[in-house]
Amino acid sequence: MTTAPFVVLKDITKRWHGQLGVEGITLDIPEGSFTALLGPSGCGKSTTLRLLAGLELPDEGQILIDGKDLTTSAASDRNLSMVFQSYALFPHLSVAENVIFGLKVRRVPKADRKQKLRKALEITGLLGFEDRKPGALSGGQRQRVALARAIVAGQRLCLMDEPLSNLDAKLRHAVRKDIKKLQRDLGITVVYVTHDQSEAMSMADTVVLMKDGHIQQVGAPEDLYNRPDNTFVAEFVGAPAMALIGSAALPGFDEGTTIGIRAENIHVVPKGEGRMSCTVNESEFLGSETLIGLSHADATGLCVLRPGLSLMPEGADIDISFRDEHLHVFDASGQRMAAR
Ligand code: ADP
Ligand code: MG
Repeated sequence: MTTAPFVVLKDITKRWHGQLGVEGITLDIPEGSFTALLGPSGCGKSTTLRLLAGLELPDEGQILIDGKDLTTSAASDRNLSMVFQSYALFPHLSVAENVIFGLKVRRVPKADRKQKLRKALEITGLLGFEDRKPGALSGGQRQRVALARAIVAGQRLCLMDEPLSNLDAKLRHAVRKDIKKLQRDLGITVVYVTHDQSEAMSMADTVVLMKDGHIQQVGAPEDLYNRPDNTFVAEFVGAPAMALIGSAALPGFDEGTTIGIRAENIHVVPKGEGRMSCTVNESEFLGSETLIGLSHADATGLCVLRPGLSLMPEGADIDISFRDEHLHVFDASGQRMAAR
C-alpha cells in the first residue's frame, strides 16, 4: 500500500472564452481506488476527466500522476487508458483487432499481443468472439470490447466517461458489476464519470459530487448519504431523495433553517399524534415496498416507505412522525450545521 495519492488535482480551473468548465478542483485519488465523478449534466465531470487525460489543458492548477507533474504533458505521455460512452470501436476491424490496435501501434511483439489479447478476452467474457465485427455484437458486448481494449493497454489508471449510458437498464446492472470486479481484480485505479447517483453509489469507493463546475462533497457513498454537507448533496444522493422541510413547519428550529429527513425514517402515525400533517399525493408500488408521496406547503420531497403493497388513497390527510436523531439541519445558505 502506498500512502501518497496516485492522482492529485490541485486547484484546477478551466474556462473557454469566459465560459466556466470547472473551478478550484482539488482532489487526491489513492492508487487502486474507484472514484466516481457524479453530478447533473454540465457540472464539469467530463471536463475534469479530459483535463486528467490531457485532452484539455487547465488555465490554472496542477495535475500530478504517480508523483510526476503532468499538468501540460501530452495525452500520450500520461500512461492511462480511457473508455467512453461511444465505444469508439473501428467498425471494419474484428473484436481481436480492435482490442490489440493500440499494442500494434506501439509495436508490441506478436506473441506478447496474442497472450494479452487472450487474457483480456477471458476477463471480459469475450472468448469466442474474436472474429466478429462490432456490428454483429450487442451493446453490452461492444462495451466489453472497449473494456478489453483498456485492459490490454495495461495501464494502472483508467478513465471512464459514462461508459454504460448506451446500455439498457438490465445490461447496465450486469456491466456495472463486471467493471467493478475488473477494477478490483486488476488492482487498477479507476476514475469514473456518471450522472447516475445509483451507479456512483454502488460502484465507487469515493464519490465526488459536483455542481456548476465546483466540488460539493467528497466521501464514501455512505458518508454522502448519511452526512450530506449541503442541501444539494442531500437532494442528489439517494432514491428517494432526502425530503427538505422549512423551519416554519417544525417548532424548535431557527428561522431560515432547513430540516432534512429520509423516507425510511418517517412513519405514518394515528391522526393527532404526528409532528406534521400532510396530504397523500401518490402511491407507487415498488415490489418489496410502497412509496407514498406526500405534500406539505413547507416541504419538498416528503415521502414514506411502507412494506409490501400498501397503497394509500390520494388526497388522504395523514400525520407523520420522526425522531430528532434522524434529522439533518442546514443553515439559510443550505450548509450542514453542526449537530445540535
Ligand atoms: P458534464 O460532463 O458534467 O455533463 P462538461 O464537463 O461536459 O459537463 O461541461 C461543463 C461545462 O463546460 C458546461 O457548461 C459545458 O458547456 C462547458 N464546456 C465543456 N466543454 C466545452 C468547450 N469545449 N467549449 C466551451 N464550453 C465547454
Ligand atoms: Mg459529460
